[in-house]
Amino acid sequence: MNEIELLQDADKRAVGYVAGVDSRRVFPAADAIAALTGFDEPLPAQGRPSEETVALMDDLGSPATVVNNGPNYFGFVIGACLPVAAAAERLSIAWDQCASTEDGSPAAYAIERQAGKWLLEVLDLPRESAVAFGTSATACGLSALAAARAELLARQGWDVVGDGLHGAPEVRVVVPASTHVTVRKALQVLGFGWNRVIKAPVDDKGRILPDQLPEMDANTLLILQAGEVNTGEFDSFAEIIPRAKAAGAWVHVDGAFGLWARAAPDLRGLTAGIEGADSWTTDGHKWLNTPYDGAMAICRDPQALARVMNSDAAYSSASAEAQKNLTLEFSRRARGIPIWAALRSLGRVGVAEMVTRHHIQAERIGDALRAAGFEVLNRVVLNQVLVRGANDTATQSILKQVQESGTSWFGGTVWQDRPAFRISLSSFRTEDRHVDQLVDLLHRIGPMGDGGEGMR
Ligand SMILES: *Cc1c(COP(=O)(O)O)cnc(C)c1O
Repeated sequence: MNEIELLQDADKRAVGYVAGVDSRRVFPAADAIAALTGFDEPLPAQGRPSEETVALMDDLGSPATVVNNGPNYFGFVIGACLPVAAAAERLSIAWDQCASTEDGSPAAYAIERQAGKWLLEVLDLPRESAVAFGTSATACGLSALAAARAELLARQGWDVVGDGLHGAPEVRVVVPASTHVTVRKALQVLGFGWNRVIKAPVDDKGRILPDQLPEMDANTLLILQAGEVNTGEFDSFAEIIPRAKAAGAWVHVDGAFGLWARAAPDLRGLTAGIEGADSWTTDGHKWLNTPYDGAMAICRDPQALARVMNSDAAYSSASAEAQKNLTLEFSRRARGIPIWAALRSLGRVGVAEMVTRHHIQAERIGDALRAAGFEVLNRVVLNQVLVRGANDTATQSILKQVQESGTSWFGGTVWQDRPAFRISLSSFRTEDRHVDQLVDLLHRIGPMGDGGEGMR
């Protein structure tokens, strides 16, 4: 096959895969997983034909994928991939741009700039902010927290970029006790030391208790949460942020999926006051349904981010808004392109509708499961439904039966020291009939976890 035939073959296979996401097993069958040993071959001395390589990937790989790009996947907050985002990604792969600077790719630079502008509009965050398109909320959060630290220290007259941390005034980091594990990771990588981080007490919904917040000052980095990973709940931004700002603290918000509530008029109230923070992170690859991997760091003071992320060299200097001067990556893919495409094709209304629909579907599941005798542990303010069976054994059994069903999939968690499962609505492909199918399955299995076998 020549290059064009090869790409057409890959496209045909890709199209065939996507066409089947409705009917594929959501989690691969054991035999498909066992067949993955087919990849275990010696590195060929002489290269193998390209078409054979693509065929092998498809024949062995496709049946062993997790079909999160489908309507029946309710695990984590994964999201599917919007057709326009997938298409834009395909074209940008053909372009193969190194989107570090405007010189590297005028096209990518212009599109990502536009994506950044729209993003600030749709999320209604300060329009002067820098938007950095990185690989993940983890990496983008790390960049934003690095900017926060440099800025707090600069205000004390300490140049962390030049002089490092030895002898620097200590920055006190405060997080909700329920903070996401990747915030912990970013803080650890930055050298904050998890044991020194102050975990603020949270209520039974995972939200910081404002009256138990530790004292804050101009050396404080406060990290809040939009969308707790189990309950989908939000910290009380309107109450907490003005207090933190008055004390001189830097406020960062982890909104990996929850920040998108701001795009939906009915849910926007959950984010009231969030615009007062200094920096925010959110993902494209979760709730916006853009391809993996793509996320954003948003920083009110563009220079604060540019100062810590600058990677200008004699042979490669660029403006402070060049993406290589805002993200961890130097050579990079233009991750803002599928985000631009998604925003352009959904429009403000389309984003709001998708987010709202998922919230309504989550509420429906919550109501139906409660009525069927399951214990629904959260208020379902967003797209997460946190559930238990009649007892811990039942919960584990329900989880196993759903995961093995092949028709739906969601994951387990531990909530307040006991097992639970988490149903997340975040695929644009999930229609009400898929929700009904999941509810039917859980009805059959029942809160005791003993109904499934008999019915099969
Ligand atoms: C998923 C998630 C993250 C991490 O995002 P990645 O893009 O996977 O790195 C951070 N915080 C919350 C609340 C999340 O749900």
